[in-house]
Amino acid sequence: MDEAQMTRARERIGDSNHHRAMALRCAGCGANLEVEPDVDHLTCGYCRTQQEVVRRGGVVRLQKLEDAIALVQRGTDKTAAELAIPRLERELLEVDADRKRQIATPIRVPDRTKLANAVITMMIVSSVGFFSMIALMNKDVTSGFLIHFAWVVWLAGVVGSAGGWVFLRVLRRGDRDKAKAQRDAEINEAAASEVRRIREALAAARAVVGARG
Ligand SMILES: [Zn+2]
Repeated sequence: MDEAQMTRARERIGDSNHHRAMALRCAGCGANLEVEPDVDHLTCGYCRTQQEVVRRGGVVRLQKLEDAIALVQRGTDKTAAELAIPRLERELLEVDADRKRQIATPIRVPDRTKLANAVITMMIVSSVGFFSMIALMNKDVTSGFLIHFAWVVWLAGVVGSAGGWVFLRVLRRGDRDKAKAQRDAEINEAAASEVRRIREALAAARAVVGARG
């Protein structure tokens, strides 16, 4: 080894001691790349892959930049998913509680106004018959056409109004049952679609947490 070679060798040693440049394998094409210690990011001169210098646990390696971003992204996703799970579980309970509350709410149905008016009319008719009977008896009329007519009017009014009232009740119950069945079906359908959406989100969140955890 002559003087010039010795100098070059010394320079090389001095160089490498000073910079501690490392030969790292490109994460893209596998080429050996000289990496200076102060370099955090580089682009491979052969394959143009952008990479990050990862120094961890005394090991230095190159990692594709999109991988690094993806890892951070996945870490963020995992944290978000972990936070989302209890919220979504709470939402599931809330949806069901809401559904029960809505179903328990009394339903309003339109009045059967015509029939109700007919019942009231029959009550008035029965009162007219009743007071006519009283008036006739006060005048000592205890037999004959008039008192029989008043009696028939009173009886017809009582029967008509009582029957009409029962019929009205039955009809209104039917109206209410029908309206409630329809309303409850709508409530249940809306709740079911909410539950489906939340369960899908929950499954996705659990998959993210499970896959990384
Ligand atoms: Zn490369």
